[in-house]
Amino acid sequence: TDWWHNVGIAPKDPILSITEAFFADSSPNKINLGVGAYRDDEGKPVVLQCVRDAEAKITGCEFLESLSRQGNVKLVEESAKLAYGENSDVVKEGRFAGVQALSGTGACRLFAEFQRRFRPESQIYLPSPTWSNHHNIWRDARVPSRTYHYYDPESKGLHFGALMDDVKNAPDHSFFLLHPCAHNPTGVDPTEEQWREISHQFKVKNHFPFFDMAYQGFASGNLSKDAQAIRIFVEDGHLIGCVQSFSKNMGLYGQRVGCLSVLCMNAKQAIAVKSQLQHIARAMYSNPPVHGALLVSTILCDPHLRNLWVEELKVMVNRTTKMRVTLQKNLEELGSPLNWDHITNQIGMFCYSGLTPEQVDQLRNKFHIYMTHDGRISMAGITTGNVAYLANAIHEVTK
Ligand code: PLP
Repeated sequence: TDWWHNVGIAPKDPILSITEAFFADSSPNKINLGVGAYRDDEGKPVVLQCVRDAEAKITGCEFLESLSRQGNVKLVEESAKLAYGENSDVVKEGRFAGVQALSGTGACRLFAEFQRRFRPESQIYLPSPTWSNHHNIWRDARVPSRTYHYYDPESKGLHFGALMDDVKNAPDHSFFLLHPCAHNPTGVDPTEEQWREISHQFKVKNHFPFFDMAYQGFASGNLSKDAQAIRIFVEDGHLIGCVQSFSKNMGLYGQRVGCLSVLCMNAKQAIAVKSQLQHIARAMYSNPPVHGALLVSTILCDPHLRNLWVEELKVMVNRTTKMRVTLQKNLEELGSPLNWDHITNQIGMFCYSGLTPEQVDQLRNKFHIYMTHDGRISMAGITTGNVAYLANAIHEVTK
């Protein structure tokens, strides 16, 4: 019984603790810009119509027993087509090991475990900055992590030169985690040309590209365009790892639906890799859940529901884009002396505002506006109703 004394309180998750503080605040003006979950223009969570229709379609036809350890076979196949392209050779030739995973987080964890098992001396290079949980995931899998240059606070854009230097200077055969689109937390992505250069340099160095795609469709509103980086690497002949999450683009946050795929030399190798991924998952959680995966595969396999999804995805992207434009315009109209072009240059769910930790504290204490200390604004939390209040508050703390 003594060992319980050694159990202290775990460090708080920076994002979850913001949500707690937000709920405890009784101000009618409060705004939560912390959590990276889509909200409509009323600030309400959204269940997509395609998801509701898929729910209706699968009612009563669901097996409550997991039929196979690889999860929903259709989900895996359709996910691979989303990432690699409808007519991709990788998919046609079965040159990938794909498994359903516990959304993006679970897929990263599964891969990290696989990496440690089969490349025990390796490390993972993470972009600086990155989604904070990446650090936790590889740490818990006992894979050491390093960071590579990514964001340039000066330009509020990509630090491309420094990134390329880090790629060149890393030992050959290093593992690099890349965000293929809508980088979290910065909203800054390489251009197509830059991706081509990165891919080329990865070839020279024999690095392993590991893509964490949590926002396909959320960057541009176009699913293929958002997968462009992945397709460039595959065209260049890289064997990559790829995480896909349906949390954001289908609004299935709580259902935990995702996919991990690892490209292989041939179908035979893919069978071996897949069996190892399943073997790891077996001891951790046995099988992934059935319901959410069935929703996703139903939407992806039904042309009507799939079109509806694509339209709804565009609505979400258009709303966040409109809020970017409005926020920047409001700040300019208030006569802000600062340049806010990055609000509209950055894309996806987040804006890396450049606000300092002190300014973030002032926004919270004086204006009841909540965001992470790095100044990351979740665009989804901004609405037609609160954007003017937000712009004014930002102007007050930065002028
Ligand atoms: N990867 C990135 C870059 C993310 O931003 C997130 C969520 O914020 C995830 C993975 C994991 O999301 P989920 O586990 O809900 O799919």
